[in-house]
Amino acid sequence: MNCPNDQFLHRFYDEELSPEDRQRVESHLVSCSTCADRVHELQSIGNRIRQASFGELTSRTLVRWHHTVMDLQERSIRRLAGWMTAAASVVLVVSLYTATRTQAQTALSDVHDWEAAVVGIDIESASPDIATAQWIATDLSRTTSGGQP
Ligand SMILES: [Zn+2]
Repeated sequence: MNCPNDQFLHRFYDEELSPEDRQRVESHLVSCSTCADRVHELQSIGNRIRQASFGELTSRTLVRWHHTVMDLQERSIRRLAGWMTAAASVVLVVSLYTATRTQAQTALSDVHDWEAAVVGIDIESASPDIATAQWIATDLSRTTSGGQP
């Protein structure tokens, strides 16, 4: 076989290969010093990690490390949730604001110029809400008094 790639050698080292593939790599390692060196390197790295993990670390350190990882995961999820809540709030406020403005402007644009002139509203300067409220109030009072001549 040709020289296997790193991933294949990692799987060989981790004993994840099928018995046939494992056999092929083993016979390749006999004739190829380059690949044999790479596997040897993987073994020494693995040994160092094993020693560091289980030799030097006490169980308390492992528990603390585990809690740190869990805490980091939880915090990043919470931060993400916070961001999404904030983004949703902004979208809600903006869409409410836009909807309110659009409704007010539509209500105001429904008022004909002559109607505004009759009730004495300066549409250009009045805020939409006040202008609409004034127009409704004036219109209602006119209708009420008009009913009793
Ligand atoms: Zn090789």
